[in-house]
Amino acid sequence: MSPHPPGRVVVVGAGVVGLCCAWHLLRRGAEVTVLDRSGVGAGASWGNAGYLTPAMAVPLPEPGLLRDGLRGLAYPDSPLALDRRPSAHTAAFLAGFARNATTRRWHRGLAGLSGLSRDSVAAFDELIDGGVKFSTHESVIRIGLEQPGEAAGLRHEFDAVRAAGQPVDYADAPPEPPFSSRIRCMMVLRGQRYVDPGEVLAALADAIRTAGGEIVEGANVTATGFGPDGLRVDTWTGRPHATDAVVLATGAWLPELARPLGVRVPMQAGRGYSCTVPLREPLATPLYLPGVRVAITPYRGGARLAGTMEIAHHDAPFRQARLDAVLRSVRPLLDGACWDEVHDPWVGPRPLTADGLPVVGATAIPGIHVAGGHGMWGLTLGPVTGRLLAEQVMTGEPVPELAPLDPLRKPWRSTSGSERQKRGA
Ligand SMILES: Cc1cc2nc3c(=O)[nH]c(=O)nc-3n(C[C@H](O)[C@H](O)[C@H](O)COP(=O)(O)OP(=O)(O)OC[C@H]3O[C@@H](n4cnc5c(N)ncnc54)[C@H](O)[C@@H]3O)c2cc1C
Repeated sequence: MSPHPPGRVVVVGAGVVGLCCAWHLLRRGAEVTVLDRSGVGAGASWGNAGYLTPAMAVPLPEPGLLRDGLRGLAYPDSPLALDRRPSAHTAAFLAGFARNATTRRWHRGLAGLSGLSRDSVAAFDELIDGGVKFSTHESVIRIGLEQPGEAAGLRHEFDAVRAAGQPVDYADAPPEPPFSSRIRCMMVLRGQRYVDPGEVLAALADAIRTAGGEIVEGANVTATGFGPDGLRVDTWTGRPHATDAVVLATGAWLPELARPLGVRVPMQAGRGYSCTVPLREPLATPLYLPGVRVAITPYRGGARLAGTMEIAHHDAPFRQARLDAVLRSVRPLLDGACWDEVHDPWVGPRPLTADGLPVVGATAIPGIHVAGGHGMWGLTLGPVTGRLLAEQVMTGEPVPELAPLDPLRKPWRSTSGSERQKRGA
């Protein structure tokens, strides 16, 4: 068994989730080393849209998405792309996803997520108050719709999120620039925030080092478990790291290390693409285009465009054709962009789970924990995840908000409270 509180913790993965876990573990007195196979922000956490929007954080498996997604696969520019011959791993994920895409399970997933989303914004403020040097920007999100009928699905989602306990303030508004004349209706979602994800990551890494934590880049972890001298983390190169506890936060790569530890929730990379586009007028607020599923965020004087969902291997190469499809879908809907000066092309793997809920908590091996599977919303939910998991790791007591995110759950069956209590933290 790992000692409580553990003196030394190794966090694997320097994305937003791993860094937030590391920061909170340090605050609670642990000696922390973060290992990343590449570097800080090498996965999904750098090039994302930067939305800090708990009002939009809903589970992905949803009947409408499944229906529209399957229909869209026939079109090359569809926001959803899938290999013609999916691997056995992807096929198992899709089967689990389809099983969870029912109205009842979606509502159950939303209730499970609410323990995280409720405190997600406060958890960003806690980082800032604790000396992590970045800014969040409070803003409305302007949502542009080509067809008035598109609003019904969004209203339904917002109302469900509100019913689950999250404040959601939205209203209809007349469409305005920089939406083009093709946008016939607009909604505004008030009281949300956005960030520059690269700034957040750099600030977290600085704060961790300043607090005495170590971040080792180029450390590819191959396995973790008990050796003759206790818990250890093995890397391709160098000596194993002896430790009292481990947090695996390797995003879309999580199954490789977590499956042998009893984590069987099907997971899959849902790769998204982004780029930066200069604008003739500065962008005042983030924009969202649900029809083409693209988020547009003010970014370093221009706009970051982020979208598409490519169900593919997490290490598959960047495909220019997918980014071109995103740009083609946005071009007719947005005025004032300098389309010839697009730069910063990027792809990153969203860590999707078949039931749309993250996996956060203890594995079957004492002392080894996971934090991942946040899908579309890992930036929004990263800081609160770090806070809650660090509490669970350092106190050894189960944290109630994490109960629905039990990494050992079967994704199509809820884990009963008594089962969880028996297993403890
Ligand atoms: C296009 C796009 C737009 C998005 N927009 C938003 C948004 O607006 N708001 C929001 O909340 N979320 C958004 N997301 C989702 C969000 O980016 C992810 O959920 C989040 O970044 C996941 O963070 P993570 O730390 O779990 O994983 P990652 O950031 O992927 O980090 C995992 C890290 O683990 C490392 N690693 C992997 N394997 C190993 C190993 N064996 N050994 C050592 N290190 C390893 C990797 O190098 C990587 O650095 C978006 C995602 C995409 C792709």
